[in-house]
Amino acid sequence: VYVHVPFCAHRCHYCDFSVARSPHPPLDEWLACIAVDVREWFALAGWRPPLPLDTLFVGGGTPSLLGGAGMEGLRGLLAQWFTWEASAVEWTAEANPASLSADTAARWRAVGVNRLSLGVQAFDDEVLRWLGRLHDAEGARRAVKRARAAGFDNLSVDLIFGLPEEVPRDWRAEVQLAADLGLEHVSAYGLTFEPHTALGRRLRLGRVRPPPEARYVEEFMAGAEILERAGFEHYEVSNFARPGRRSRHNWHYWDGTSYLGLGPSAQGYLPPHRVRNVHRWDAYRRAAGAGASLREEIEFLTGEQRELERLWLTLRTAEGLPPSDPLWVRLGAGARARLKAWERAGWLTRRGGVRLTSQGWLRMDEFVAELGACGPVRSESEGPGTGVNA
Ligand code: SF4
Repeated sequence: VYVHVPFCAHRCHYCDFSVARSPHPPLDEWLACIAVDVREWFALAGWRPPLPLDTLFVGGGTPSLLGGAGMEGLRGLLAQWFTWEASAVEWTAEANPASLSADTAARWRAVGVNRLSLGVQAFDDEVLRWLGRLHDAEGARRAVKRARAAGFDNLSVDLIFGLPEEVPRDWRAEVQLAADLGLEHVSAYGLTFEPHTALGRRLRLGRVRPPPEARYVEEFMAGAEILERAGFEHYEVSNFARPGRRSRHNWHYWDGTSYLGLGPSAQGYLPPHRVRNVHRWDAYRRAAGAGASLREEIEFLTGEQRELERLWLTLRTAEGLPPSDPLWVRLGAGARARLKAWERAGWLTRRGGVRLTSQGWLRMDEFVAELGACGPVRSESEGPGTGVNA
């Protein structure tokens, strides 16, 4: 289950998530909407409660703005729909270093949150200011200590790389600092310039230049090298974990497991359907209040779409696809020739499955496009091929 918290105290310059500016979020109204949402999901899927819960990820937005009461209320609500084996459920919540108080951390841990994901993004004050973050580097380090003091033994931080040249930084030193903090997990994402963000506008006006590709490549490779040397496994294109500390929740996105998405803009996957919720908080809460559907789109994925998506998602991971996977046969001779060419270039290896190397991950979109162009994927279970808007 993914639950979206659509509130932030302020919008960061690069962010185009579904977020409403609200330093004091309407917790009761948000919980009431989530209650409507989960009820609609069960009716839509024809499920009868309780279902066993495997992983819960509360993301945002800024879940830490909801304080202890946020996760306590959510647990009470979801416990009506799911059986909840506290020791078995991986429950992650995202927190912003600017709003994770000692009280919030302690209450989250007490109610069952057992994995914390901190939106650190950088350990450099100038970079944090340029990104429009509310915290500084010292605040990020304090948040890590606060989480440890509250008893969290599974801690992840997010970092952003690939900034324009006019923003100098010592990326290697920052990644080394993250490695030295003794974290269990690090996610490193390349900066994207989305059109409807402050950064996107600056780019259009020529006030900032797009990052040079060489910097992106050098930082991607340096991050991987430093974290792997420190004992992290590069288990997905953007994710690094200590042994046994992969994100189980995120893994389900990549291995094709079905999941529910609750909250504005959340997505769910009930094969063969992808379900998208109403995007903006205002529209979502109005729909919940009026008894209207919270689904913006229910899309039917054809067998071919599902196969290509499976290919794309598994190639994001260090596991890759076993060479015996029937998908390779269905892709045909053209795709097999591409595999050989990529292997010769050092971008792919067949040891223990067909997997991309770090150099290959840098070219992943190109790779999937090439394979897609090798001819239609013949699937075993074709169905009607039209999208359905709810
Ligand atoms: S804290 Fe996260 S979700 Fe909120 S505005 Fe910043 S990047 Fe976006």
